[in-house]
Amino acid sequence: MKISHVFVQLRGIMQSQVQMQTINIPRRVGAIKSWTDIMGVSINVCIILFFYFFEAFYVMPQFLGLFGQAVHFLVTTWIVYNILENLRLCVTTLNTVDSLPPQMQQPMKGEEHLWHFCKICQRNVPPRSWHCNICDACILKRDHHCNFVGNCVGHNNQRYFIWFSFYAAIGSAVALFDNFMLAHKHGVGFFDLVKANYIIFNAYMNPGRKELVIFYRIVSVLGVNIFAVLFPAALFCTQVVTVIKNSVMHDYSDRTYDLGLGNNLTLILGSRRLWTCLSPNIKSPLPHNGTRWKSKRAV
Ligand SMILES: [Zn+2]
Ligand SMILES: [Zn+2]
Repeated sequence: MKISHVFVQLRGIMQSQVQMQTINIPRRVGAIKSWTDIMGVSINVCIILFFYFFEAFYVMPQFLGLFGQAVHFLVTTWIVYNILENLRLCVTTLNTVDSLPPQMQQPMKGEEHLWHFCKICQRNVPPRSWHCNICDACILKRDHHCNFVGNCVGHNNQRYFIWFSFYAAIGSAVALFDNFMLAHKHGVGFFDLVKANYIIFNAYMNPGRKELVIFYRIVSVLGVNIFAVLFPAALFCTQVVTVIKNSVMHDYSDRTYDLGLGNNLTLILGSRRLWTCLSPNIKSPLPHNGTRWKSKRAV
């Protein structure tokens, strides 16, 4: 079967690249609308900061000298900077169709048939846009709404979401390694997590026994820490799949817009592709404003 790339837009890629230089990605000003978003982001930031300070000032001094602690502190500071800055940009970057300049909120001549009607917004919206009830807006190439970043993940902020979940998983894995050393020192084994309820009950019934309280605290920290590794790691894996196929979370297997790994990376991470992993502040413009998509069709 012959596969060819069909251009949804009529203008060439060169023109899109020229246009890209002039696109300003809009930032959100004002409060997050939903309580679940506020709770999600707050829990997120609290867990990140707790592990950052807990490892640096409580756990590491028990195992490392001053030089080792300094190295550990520098590495974890760099990881936490990437987590929090990607999170901030993910929260504040707008993906709504309304945030586009007015002239781009209408289809180009000859492209009207590619746009579809949103019953809630009562207007035509670009291909790959769909409505988010929490944001109460149509989102450009909507992937999903994530309460833990308080925003829809879409065309303009997916890059930040990908590296946020990546660094959150890495940072939590480093903390987990440190916390297992702490657990080992206090005689808490991995399988003690299975009987965590019993340990917590025992500590509650014997408040005078200090070693049980330490036991209980370590088991609690390990429980949260394991969740903090697995959840962002699972998110990152789903994002890898969507990048490979240039699909979205609600339809992983869709390959309509799969233009090959290199092009997909550019469309999602911008012109600097994987170099964006080094810092969220690396400039990496996207090839278009999220309204015009090339598709791959089997003919
Ligand atoms: Zn809508
Ligand atoms: Zn949303």
